[in-house]
Amino acid sequence: MAAADRMIDLRSDTVTRPSDAMRRAIAEAAVGDDQYGEDPTVNRLQARIAELLGKEAALFVPSGTMANQIALKLLTRPGDVVLVGEQAHIMWLEAGAGAANAGVLFKPVGRGGLFTAADFAAAYQAPGHIVLPPTGLVAIENTHNFGGGLIFPQDEIVAICTAARAAGVRSYLDGARLFNAAVASGMPLAELAAPFDLASVALSKGLGCPIGSVLAGSTADIAAAIRIRRILGGALRQAGILAAAGLYALDHHVDRLAEDHDKARQLAERLASLPGVLLDPGSVQTNIVVIGLAPELPEANAIASRARDAGVLLSAIGPRTLRLVTHLDASVMECREAAEILSRVLDPQ
Ligand SMILES: *Cc1c(COP(=O)(O)O)cnc(C)c1O
Repeated sequence: MAAADRMIDLRSDTVTRPSDAMRRAIAEAAVGDDQYGEDPTVNRLQARIAELLGKEAALFVPSGTMANQIALKLLTRPGDVVLVGEQAHIMWLEAGAGAANAGVLFKPVGRGGLFTAADFAAAYQAPGHIVLPPTGLVAIENTHNFGGGLIFPQDEIVAICTAARAAGVRSYLDGARLFNAAVASGMPLAELAAPFDLASVALSKGLGCPIGSVLAGSTADIAAAIRIRRILGGALRQAGILAAAGLYALDHHVDRLAEDHDKARQLAERLASLPGVLLDPGSVQTNIVVIGLAPELPEANAIASRARDAGVLLSAIGPRTLRLVTHLDASVMECREAAEILSRVLDPQ
């Protein structure tokens, strides 16, 4: 078994640790009480994200889950249906929070995390029906996590959000990995976020910050979001030490995401050549590789535990599905080494 400090950790891009330079930015941050609106570093980060996403205002929150929960409470009423892609984080990976906090139902549409304006139209339920719950919100994940880091086609996003607006349905972008989508597609963040009423981005995923997400939207929606953040216990005080990491990451960790995408593509090409590995390397667009295991291979948990013994950490996200995520703390060489280790682990001989 490899020593713990030599593990190549591809479970998630959340495992990164702040670099020395980021820690210096954190140490030197000017701070104040953010609940009085007096933390200058938080204010700078919020203004910068609002501008990047082309929205009027932005709000720092402690996690991507809280960003999603604030969006649900802000944009829906209890009993509303939220239309989402299959295996959406907001539906399935937040410990039931959408039902517990906002009292909503989720209806997955489309396939593999993606859906179309036709899927929206087919699933839409107008208010006023005697038994059926109304559609209150459409939520899109870009990139799609369990879909394998897929970039949601922007023309379809425009069509879905246009149809939603015409029907009086609000729209929300779960952009935990929107920076990956922007770098991989070459499209500006503001263009990716433009069709939506409200959008979030994570600082603690590919950008390599220890903590934080940011919501962006209209001045009125963000003002209402401030109260919901307080209700959920997410209003902070000298949060500038966290915002400083975000500002540092915006300057230094965005363009480099292309490297993470290259590493994921190389991993995918190596793994796709193995018998029993169900993966189209052409489908890998960003920093996530999701692979299916054919019946002749052991189950995902068994593969993950053998990989751990051989020095590679990855996630079993289904009985026969594994996920690997590249990030700034796993170098090109380490990702190559991981591919070689996994090719031995996955060899059925
Ligand atoms: C990770 C993730 C979240 C939640 O972020 P946390 O900071 O872990 O709460 C939300 N949405 C997507 C798509 C994610 O990948």
